Amino acid sequence: QYLDEQPVKSRDELGDLGESVLYMSREIERNFGRQKRFIGSVSHEFKTPLTSIRAYADLLEMYGDDPALLREAAGNIAKETDRLHDMVEKVLRMSALEHYEFDSNAKPLEVQEALADMCARMQGLAARSGIAIHTDLEPVVIWADSELFEHIFMNLLNNAVKYNTEGGHVYVRCREKDGQVNISVRDTGIGIPEEAKDRLFEPFYTVSKSRSRLSGGTGLGLSVAKQMAEIQGGSVKLAATGPEGSEFVLTFPSYRGGRQEADRKGTST
Ligand code: ADP
Repeated sequence: QYLDEQPVKSRDELGDLGESVLYMSREIERNFGRQKRFIGSVSHEFKTPLTSIRAYADLLEMYGDDPALLREAAGNIAKETDRLHDMVEKVLRMSALEHYEFDSNAKPLEVQEALADMCARMQGLAARSGIAIHTDLEPVVIWADSELFEHIFMNLLNNAVKYNTEGGHVYVRCREKDGQVNISVRDTGIGIPEEAKDRLFEPFYTVSKSRSRLSGGTGLGLSVAKQMAEIQGGSVKLAATGPEGSEFVLTFPSYRGGRQEADRKGTST
């Protein structure tokens, strides 16, 4: 008997197995749709800087002997090339994360020390806009990949400085509660409009093209950060926003003193 000659079974007859197959096919369809949308966005977003670079190259060809135009075109080509470079780097990172093995890269990480170090490194850039970074950090340990952790936190800190106002403040706080470490990055910046809140973590989403383009943003930072946090059992969320600024919270499971490592190796402590 051919497959298509078999009597079609109802969902009830198919039972649990039928439910699972149905669920799996919906998941595959959803993932496929997401990937198609992502590839569509990538090609669209890559075209913008490329078009701009091409236009400036044409201008240079025609009016290259005008020193003012030469400077402007060279500056813009450099800026757009940097954006493109940043985008390529982030898209490659996102695709590498699909095959990333957390277990072989995770170690106990002293959060207080890592955060203090990153804040100190960001202080110089912040000071140029008169922005001060304040820290209130508890000595806690998480189970994480230090490189990915640094990438996530630097992204939040960088946004808190980038979308701040002249003379503003950034408050970084770290606390442990109920087996979770919460790292809050609060700024006194421009805030996030209501309609943007649910879309912030989508790839290429920017609140306004102009505000991101001015600061060299690509709309990929938060989506990469979220993906990086989730593969480590953590999360990144927008906790609050308003005219007085925004607060993002990064959560990681606390390190349970040897247990996580022992779990991984299949031994007990
Ligand atoms: P980008 O690279 O454009 O900064 P992100 O994914 O990091 O992209 O952020 C997405 C959008 O969220 C940005 O376009 C920016 O408008 C908004 N945003 C992110 N962080 C903040 C913040 N701390 N304050 C205000 N707006 C923010």
